[in-house]
Amino acid sequence: MGLTVMKFGGTSVGTIEKIKRVAKRIAERKAAGERIITVVSAMGKTTDELVALANEAACRPNKREMDMLLSTGEQQTCALLTMILNEMGISAVSLTGWQAGITTESVFGNARIKEIHADRILNELDQGKVIVVAGFQGITSEDEITTLGRGGSDTTAVALAAAVRADLCEIYTDVDGVFTTDPRVVKAARKLDEISYDEMLEMAHLGAGVLHPRAVENAKKYNVPLVVRSSYNREEGTIIKEDVAMEKGMSVRGLAFERNIVKVTIMGLPNKIGTLSNVFKTLAQANINVDIIIQNVLGEEELSVSFTISEVDLDDTLDVLNKFKSALGYQLLNTEAGLAKVSIVGSGMASNPGVAAEMFAALSGQDIMVKMVSTSEIKVSTVISSDQLQKALHILHEAFHLDMSIRV
Ligand code: ADP
Ligand code: ASP
Ligand code: MG
Repeated sequence: MGLTVMKFGGTSVGTIEKIKRVAKRIAERKAAGERIITVVSAMGKTTDELVALANEAACRPNKREMDMLLSTGEQQTCALLTMILNEMGISAVSLTGWQAGITTESVFGNARIKEIHADRILNELDQGKVIVVAGFQGITSEDEITTLGRGGSDTTAVALAAAVRADLCEIYTDVDGVFTTDPRVVKAARKLDEISYDEMLEMAHLGAGVLHPRAVENAKKYNVPLVVRSSYNREEGTIIKEDVAMEKGMSVRGLAFERNIVKVTIMGLPNKIGTLSNVFKTLAQANINVDIIIQNVLGEEELSVSFTISEVDLDDTLDVLNKFKSALGYQLLNTEAGLAKVSIVGSGMASNPGVAAEMFAALSGQDIMVKMVSTSEIKVSTVISSDQLQKALHILHEAFHLDMSIRV
């Protein structure tokens, strides 16, 4: 008898009507003889609303209390779906993260799952029940409730699938699968039948919000068969797995992007060993996530360094750099906001040296100025002005033939 984890995201459970539709889908699978573990997100925009309430209640809400609050969103859906299943005559039980045995690190707001003690789940499954688990949450060894970071219910689903050795983990969402880029932004985006774990991991890290990066990380690590599909129709969705052949003549699988990027430049730093380490240690200690870094040596004495951060971290970054100005020994600080990062991702790039050049040519052909670049084996990221993001996505989608399925 197959064991499947089915995860339903916020929009898919946004109203009671939608939860009833989800319940029907679960009932069909149960009737077909599958054992089912369901993971649910908070209804619709509940998490956003809870965050807004917290920000009304306090200027800097305490992080422990924030997790206490946010974890209630998923619990509502969990209980409601279970009530509906019960009324349909299906034996089901709802479990919070801790009842499901999900233990995490002690990091409020962005905890990693450490272990899953699946005995309770396996027991309930043996009794023939559908298990409904609240996504996005766990418990620390000190019995504190934590959350896994925005979008983290995907990670709950994949981690559970790995822990119980499920045959399949299905992520049900509001689009038909993983597309070549966000279909809400680029109309020509095309649904992919398959994508590799590595490509999906890059896409997720580079801004494709369709899957939480840690979900993909876990799927790869534990070889969990993963599918992203629509909760609104019966289309087959996208399979994410280890090896996926590149379509003939293609080197790029998809585009990812992020808005609200800020470039920070520190000028007049001493050109000596240890300078970079001091700068980035200082930022790391303030929990600031730095992305692309470029260093410039100016003459013998001086160097400057530019790096990108998320706009939400700008105030903290300026605070910490100003505070340590004399210790770091720099002269000037400059910031440029209103930037976006656009990335091309594809395993075909590793063996095709011309891809970055093709990307730059496509962008410059539309008068788009590339301000920063970073590359890895299977991606090239560029930082451009946010105003030009839409144009850049369209031209890159076209330049790399992403709107066409070339099959031979
Ligand atoms: P859920 O609430 O189901 O977790 P999310 O909003 O987290 O849904 O993820 C689905 C959304 O991800 C889509 O509505 C889409 O706008 C966005 N998205 C971004 N990049 C992609 C992509 N490459 N393919 C599909 N969807 C994408
Ligand atoms: N409800 C959480 C969020 O909105 C977690 C999730 O939906 O995956 O981020
Ligand atoms: Mg999501």
